[in-house]
Amino acid sequence: MRLVLVGPPGAGKGTQAQYIASNLSIPKISTGDIFRANVSGGTDLGKLAKTYMDRGDLVPDEVTIAMVRDRLSESDAQDGFLLDGFPRNVAQAEILRDMLKDWGQALDLVLELVVDDDEVVRRLAGRRTCSQCGRIWHVEFDDKKDDECDACGGALFQRDDDKEETVRHRLEVYQEQTAPLVSYYADEGILVGVDATGPVEEVTQRAMEAIRPFMG
Ligand SMILES: [Zn+2]
Repeated sequence: MRLVLVGPPGAGKGTQAQYIASNLSIPKISTGDIFRANVSGGTDLGKLAKTYMDRGDLVPDEVTIAMVRDRLSESDAQDGFLLDGFPRNVAQAEILRDMLKDWGQALDLVLELVVDDDEVVRRLAGRRTCSQCGRIWHVEFDDKKDDECDACGGALFQRDDDKEETVRHRLEVYQEQTAPLVSYYADEGILVGVDATGPVEEVTQRAMEAIRPFMG
């Protein structure tokens, strides 16, 4: 099973990626993990990427693509994989398609975690971080009524990233970037949307049901 997972910030994509990959016994391949592995392993690509990151610049597409290619060539990815964080746009999707085609492979499925914007705002803007121990509480889900950490007594604050305005902006950026990617895969006939609201286990279950018809 070769699949790609897409979803907005706050959709629980990292967690679902882990559960789905483990249910399917395939490696979860995230661009974040690939970056860290290359940098800490001191590979040529890792060293190259680091020169950009140290300057605070974005790592160019071709470096990311070369890292993904290396990772997908490894033996554990030959019978399937779950990609998280790649491709990010249609250009990358086309490169991935050609890369797989060269190896006689193709994607089986693109799973889109669907959460509406207000739900994402509710999840992220309700987060409060402890200024002492870093623990995260949620005003609604943890029924947190005061501004004090129950674990250490530290003062809670709202990270800039979690402010409603910032969350809405991140969602807009995501929509702009991802909408063309989603319609590209819809045209290819391999896109399936999964409702990502509700408890984590229920979302995983829904995802597995959506995947089943695509399993060879
Ligand atoms: Zn604390």
